[in-house]
Amino acid sequence: MSSPAADRSGSDRFKIARERMVGLQLASNGITDERVLAAMRKVPRHLFVDEALWDQAYGDFPLPIGYAQTISQPYIVALMTQELGLKGIEKVLEVGTGSGYQAAILGELARSVFSVERVPALLIRARKTLDSLGYSNVYLKLDDGTWGWRDEAPFDAIIVTAGSPMVPKPLVDQLGDPGVLIIPVGDEYSQVLVKITKSDGRLEQKNITGVRFVRLIGEHGWKE
Ligand code: SAH
Repeated sequence: MSSPAADRSGSDRFKIARERMVGLQLASNGITDERVLAAMRKVPRHLFVDEALWDQAYGDFPLPIGYAQTISQPYIVALMTQELGLKGIEKVLEVGTGSGYQAAILGELARSVFSVERVPALLIRARKTLDSLGYSNVYLKLDDGTWGWRDEAPFDAIIVTAGSPMVPKPLVDQLGDPGVLIIPVGDEYSQVLVKITKSDGRLEQKNITGVRFVRLIGEHGWKE
């Protein structure tokens, strides 16, 4: 029988589910960064969703987290994270904390993570989950993240986990040099994952793949 403590850190059952997830959904689909795979193997994704969804937490699909929001499918979390190319020394900005799961993955892979969320209840719950798992390098703020986090800029990497009609200018301005920014850009129903890199003062843009995210709502995103 598993103890409550074993469930917090992830009982055997969930560990096995994570191993399967990494093998079947990630490693076999182009996720090759060993550090990313290790983080996906380690972070107990089920603890970021309602207990009623624990058995679905390692499936190949997004999950509801309340307030009409979702936590992305594991493959998309891994893909976006891999594109950031983190080595462990970076200061990262995330826009759209949601459940805090992506922030935890980033917390495993970077020096520090600054994540902004606009829905108070989601922020409070994410803080609780992240604290219970000991992520002391993940900082959260309630705000319109399309403005970035000016006091903490510049960032080595920026990840936006909601879809936007355009790339918010404050985020490009708060990107370090060198720096990398990943954001889904498109209409409400489908977006392209855009990767912007800054290097020697120059910006380059590349399209990664088609995705579907909830809306980024704010001054430099969708109007409510
Ligand atoms: N990364 C999250 C999932 C994000 S879902 C996770 O791992 O669970 C998208 C989130 O972006 C939602 O929580 C939504 O409330 C938030 N969001 C939308 N617009 C925002 C804005 N302008 N600033 C901050 N958060 C925003």
